[in-house]
Amino acid sequence: MLLKALKYVFIFSLVLICALLVFGAFTSIPAPLKQKSENLPIYISDISIVDVLNGEIKHLRNVLILNGEIADISPNPITINFPESITINGKNKYLIPSLWDMHIHTIKRSDLLHYPLYIVNGILNVRDLGNTCSWGVDQNCSAPNSEWQRLIENKELLGPKSWSKVSFHMEELTESDVKPTLNWLNNLNDSLLKLQLSHDTTSQQFQSVLVQAEKAALPVVGHLPANINLTDLNLSNLKSIEHDRAFYAHCSELEDVFEERISTMTRFASSYNETECRSVMAFLHEEGVAYTPTHIASSMQDVNLSNHLYGNAEHNKYIDHTTLTLWKAYAWLAEKGFDDKDKQDLITLKNTSLQLSKLAQDNNVLLLAGTDALDAFIYPGFSLYEELQMLSKAGLSNSEVIRSATINPARYFKVEEKWGSVAKGKKADLVILNGNPLIDLSAIQEINSVIFNGELYSQNELNEMKLYVENTTKTISVTAKRVWELFFN
Ligand SMILES: [Zn+2]
Repeated sequence: MLLKALKYVFIFSLVLICALLVFGAFTSIPAPLKQKSENLPIYISDISIVDVLNGEIKHLRNVLILNGEIADISPNPITINFPESITINGKNKYLIPSLWDMHIHTIKRSDLLHYPLYIVNGILNVRDLGNTCSWGVDQNCSAPNSEWQRLIENKELLGPKSWSKVSFHMEELTESDVKPTLNWLNNLNDSLLKLQLSHDTTSQQFQSVLVQAEKAALPVVGHLPANINLTDLNLSNLKSIEHDRAFYAHCSELEDVFEERISTMTRFASSYNETECRSVMAFLHEEGVAYTPTHIASSMQDVNLSNHLYGNAEHNKYIDHTTLTLWKAYAWLAEKGFDDKDKQDLITLKNTSLQLSKLAQDNNVLLLAGTDALDAFIYPGFSLYEELQMLSKAGLSNSEVIRSATINPARYFKVEEKWGSVAKGKKADLVILNGNPLIDLSAIQEINSVIFNGELYSQNELNEMKLYVENTTKTISVTAKRVWELFFN
């Protein structure tokens, strides 16, 4: 049944691609959006600063931004004497540091299709865990991301700063694979190794990859194989663990393997062992391993798909037709696998998975907000708020939730000197909100304006960016293969 369905999806996708290619031949690709380059001083008066470190508000502050950095913050008026400057009345508004999405994916034209959406949502920094190119050792695959970042740095392209330009997904473990892959990655800048190894990987094999990568100076992130004894390993080169389901085997009383199938995964909820999990989280804290739950693309996604909830339809207009069609096909296929009992079990599983985030937070594991954008119905930019809501449901305070998308990512990349909070001397990557997110998290969505690379983007300009993406989705053809592969990340 599944194979037959897959065949229809494949044929449908082929027809769609042909149609889009023909259509694409008659339309022109729009020019990429550029950043502003006015470099004017910005003076914000009487604004409330959200102090993400202490979880409190500093009321009525005046902020001066010069050359892309916060030059001064004072409760008293700051004397400015510039021939030209931008002034903002910050009364009843709130200033937060830019948001980070710590788990995104890109495709070939993400520079046009997705990057502006991050800026629109105040996400000025991302961790890119791989475009579909990074599934094979291919020098050319890293080229687009590196080139985009060069353009972004020069203000020639509008998009978030991406802190990991190349990520390689390692799924197989053969001696002949590991060394050439590490050598290849080692020759590229800002690369990392993403492990997605099968559940029969042993502790020794897992450790061996970590050690070899460390020798090649490559940071490792990834999924956790079920059969390894995590707390026996040296995890000094494992930078982060991705997805809540990574912990199912390690926080369960059951000994047997958890495969990524509903029938085995749902057993986690009934076999969850909090004491064991607490010691796993304490160990991760000691070893300095961060955790990116991506609840919305993991346990929450299964609940949504099994209940015919396909994201926020309002945002579908910002997604190209191929991607959207594949998302729908994926949802249709996924639904076929759920019966009524599964649906109930998935809700229990999701609630237990949320406890992992609370446990991680309570054990001071560096918690990172990430969406897994481009997975089915995970919208670039827009979906970060949904993940923040999940962390809130997990029992984190609003300031803890906000930290997971601001100072924690900055600490993860060891750049908290310049990013992650609002302070004198830090980068002027800021978001002005209409409400207080420490009281109501939804204020994160009430964006008044964005300051990126020291340039102000008004509400109107942010709306224009949305319109640009909406129009661009109609003129760019995306190959189904690239999008389809992302579902297995
Ligand atoms: Zn992913």
